[in-house]
Parts: sequence; structure tokens; C-alpha cells
Amino acid sequence: MTEIAPGVQLIDTQLGGRRGLTSAYLIAGTQPALVDPGPETSAGLLIGELHDLGVGPDDLAWIVLTHIHLDHCGGTGALAAAFPRARVVVHERGARHLADPARLVAASHEVFGATAPLHGGLAATAAERIVVAPDGHRVPVNDDESLEMIATPGHARHHMSVLHQTSGVLIIGDAVGTQLKGGNLYPNTPPSDVDIVAGRHSITRLGVRRPALITLSHFGPTDDPEATLAEADDALERLGHAALEGYREGGRAGIAAAVDRYLPIDETIGDADVLALWRWMAWDQHNIAGLEIWAQRQEADKATA
Ligand SMILES: [Zn+2]
Repeated sequence: MTEIAPGVQLIDTQLGGRRGLTSAYLIAGTQPALVDPGPETSAGLLIGELHDLGVGPDDLAWIVLTHIHLDHCGGTGALAAAFPRARVVVHERGARHLADPARLVAASHEVFGATAPLHGGLAATAAERIVVAPDGHRVPVNDDESLEMIATPGHARHHMSVLHQTSGVLIIGDAVGTQLKGGNLYPNTPPSDVDIVAGRHSITRLGVRRPALITLSHFGPTDDPEATLAEADDALERLGHAALEGYREGGRAGIAAAVDRYLPIDETIGDADVLALWRWMAWDQHNIAGLEIWAQRQEADKATA
């Protein structure tokens, strides 16, 4: 664990046993909050880390989710069982899946393919412990201190970013993409409901908040919040062009070729070890599959407009 700002601890949730790939955040307070428990396969490790940080079974007040992809939320049911007083804060579209996860798990495993066992599943959370968070919802961590939930659709329709108001730390989830140690930023555009236009709009909204620090789920704080947002916006614009142009030229293969022209993954990420991790996770393939679904929807919307 690393304290990235006063009261904000980064905990490495080590998806697939790899360090520097997935992160959770513990926000200190009289009502401590854990943001994004990570995959179910890491729940035991995370519970141990929380114990080491002095968070006892009755202490954790909140489990807060940026979104319900299994590398972020898979440990929720296990954590909720280990911390029986914690309530789970999630976007409206995520709530029913946490209470009844079978469909979400099946659909996620279909997308993940070979990496499904690395993630594990998701145990159900009792519906009465789930708190639906609209845009602007505040999660109290102290008498005078809270986390603000900011709706940031794009990576997924139900994606939210979490602003720690005291420190100005913005726990941004996957809203701008992934930047693993040694490599550069690259967006994640997975199935099934990535939206490039909404994603760019979300980045603009986040910029208005002038965060003091941006920390990515994959992985950790960036050097300069403003530069990160600008870079992500530019990258999403390129991927949007690639998706639409490539799709017209020839479906998924066309998109892959256009992505190579507009935002080549090798050159953009620029680090062999980071690229190897991307490919191990199949994030490069998920990106093309997600862009194809988005391009299809855009074309269908145009046809019916
Ligand atoms: Zn995600």
C-alpha cells in the first residue's frame, strides 16, 4: 500500500498475481471507504491488507464502485461478507447486477475468454446494502468530509469517478484509460457499451473540477492531471475516427487497421513489458471489439435518424 495523498491509500489488488495492474483505494475517516475492491480472486489479499491498515471487520463503512467490470467490482460480495456493516455505493445501472450477478458474470466471462479465471466471479450483495448513487451523490467519510460521485459515462454507460474533496484526489477508474508503469496512456474501449462521444464529454466535465491528482485504476497517480485529461481526450478522438472509418471499410478488421493508423498501440504505449501485459489481458482485442459495437450503433442511429 502507498499513501498517495493524506488519507488516501492505494492498495495493489494484483489481478492475476501481477503487481501494478489493478488498484483499490482506502479513504480514511470515521466512516472509511474502499473504492474498487478489484477482482474476486484478490479478495483474500485485500482483506489482509485492510487488516494491516487497521480496518477491522466492523470498521469499513463503504464499498464504492467506479463501475461493475469484474476487475473493479468482482470482490464486492466477498468484501461485503467480510465487512458486514459496509454498504455498497454504485451507479443505478450497476445495482441490480450486484444483487443478482449471474448474468453479469456470464457476459463478462464471454468477453474475457481465456482471462476469465484470472478474474473469478462476483458473489451477490444483499439488496438492502446497496446504495444507488446519482451524479453528485456524496459518500460521507467524516463529519465534514465526503467523496463525490461524478457520473462519467464513456468506458461504460454506468461509469462513475470518485472525487475526494479534501485532497482533490480524483479516483478516475477507467475514464481516461490505462497507464501502466513504464508505458504511456492508452484508452480502454471494451464491450459492451463504450461510448466515445460520452467519454470525451466526461473528460471535459472532470477538467472543470480541476483535480489536484488523478489516479488510474490501471495503475496509480499520473504526473499532471491536466495533461492526462488532454491526452485522453486526444486519444479518444483518434479512436472515434478509427472506429467509424474502419468500420465502413470493413468491420472489425477494418477497425483494427484504422486503429493502427490513428493510434497505434505499440508506438503509443511505447514499452515492451507494458505491451506484453496488455496482450496478456487481451485489452488490445477488447478495445477493437468494443469499438466495433460502438461504430455499429452509430451507423444504426444514423440510418434511423
Ligand atoms: Zn472497466
